[in-house]
Amino acid sequence: AKHTKNEAFHFYRPVDSKESFEKLMLANDLRQAIKNNEFTLYYQPQSSLKTNKITGVEALIRWNHPQKGMISPGVFIPIAEETGLIQEIDQWVLYQACLQHKHWLDKGFPPIKIAVNLSMTQFQKKNLFEIVSKTLSKTGVSPKYIELELTESVIMENPELTLSNIKKLNSIGIQLSLDDFGTHYSSLLYLKKLPLNRLKIDKSFVLDLLNDSDDRVIIQAMINLAHNLNMTVIAEGVENQQQLSFLQKNHCDEIQGFYLSKPIPQEKFSAQCF
Ligand code: C2E
Ligand code: CA
Ligand code: CA
Ligand code: CA
Repeated sequence: AKHTKNEAFHFYRPVDSKESFEKLMLANDLRQAIKNNEFTLYYQPQSSLKTNKITGVEALIRWNHPQKGMISPGVFIPIAEETGLIQEIDQWVLYQACLQHKHWLDKGFPPIKIAVNLSMTQFQKKNLFEIVSKTLSKTGVSPKYIELELTESVIMENPELTLSNIKKLNSIGIQLSLDDFGTHYSSLLYLKKLPLNRLKIDKSFVLDLLNDSDDRVIIQAMINLAHNLNMTVIAEGVENQQQLSFLQKNHCDEIQGFYLSKPIPQEKFSAQCF
C-alpha cells in the first residue's frame, strides 16, 4: 500500500483526548499487524449437552502487539471497524480458520465445525458470498463445517442486502448463527425471515442465572423460541457445573465457556480437545 498515514484512515476529527490519541496509534499499528504476522487465532470448544462431545470450536482473534503485548479484540475490533481494516482482518480470520480445519483433518482428527465472527460491515458487502466461497474452494473446506456468527445489529442496518447474503451463504450449506442474542435491539420478524441455524444466548444472561430468576425465565424463553423456529441453541459464558445443569435441564443443545475451556492456541487445542 502506497497510502500515507493520513489517506489511509478516516480520522479527520481532532484528537482531543489521551484516549483518542491512543486509538489513533493503535489504528496505525493495526495496518502493519497482518503483514507482520501479529495476529493469531485462539480456539474455544463447544460441547453438546446430550453427548458431552465436542461438536465445534469458535475462532477468536488475538493481537500480539510488538510493544504493548496482547491486546484484546474488545479493544481493537471496534477500531478496525471504524477504519475499515476489519474487512482485511475478518478475511484473514476466515482463511486461517479454514486452513486450521484442513490441518486437523489431515492429522486424522474427526471433523469439527469452526465458527468465525464476521463484523456487520461484512454482511453489507455485495461480494461477501464470492469472498467466502473462494476461501472455501482455495482451502478445500466443505461449507458444512463453517459457521458464520453475526449479531443482531447487522440485520437492522441493511436488511435487504444482509438477507440476500445470508440466504446465498446458507444455500451452499454454510451454517449461520446469531451471536449475543438478546443484547441488541432485535426484531422477531427477522428471526423468522432469516435462514439461521443457531441462536447463541449471550453470556450476560448466563453469568447470573443462578441468582436471578429473570435471567432463568429469559433463557428458557430463548431456548423454546429457537427450537420452535427450528434452530439449535448454544449458551456462551458457561463457567460452572450449576449453570451447565440448568441449561441441560432446560434442553439447551450446546454450551461454550470457561467451564469447558478458555480460548486456547491451536497446539493446545489439538492436544486437549480431540
Ligand atoms: P464474542 O463473539 O461474543 O466472543 C465471546 C467472548 O467471550 C470471547 O472474548 C471469549 O473469550 C469470552 N468468553 C468465552 N467463555 C467465557 C466465559 O465462560 N466467561 C466469560 N466471562 N467470558 C467468556 P474475546 O475473545 O475477548 O472476544 C471479544 C469479542 O471480540 C468477541 O465477542 C467478538 O465480538 C470479537 N471478536 C473476536 N474475534 C473476532 C474476529 O475474528 N472477528 C471479529 N469481527 N470479531 C471478533
Ligand atoms: Ca462470537
Ligand atoms: Ca457472543
Ligand atoms: Ca460480544
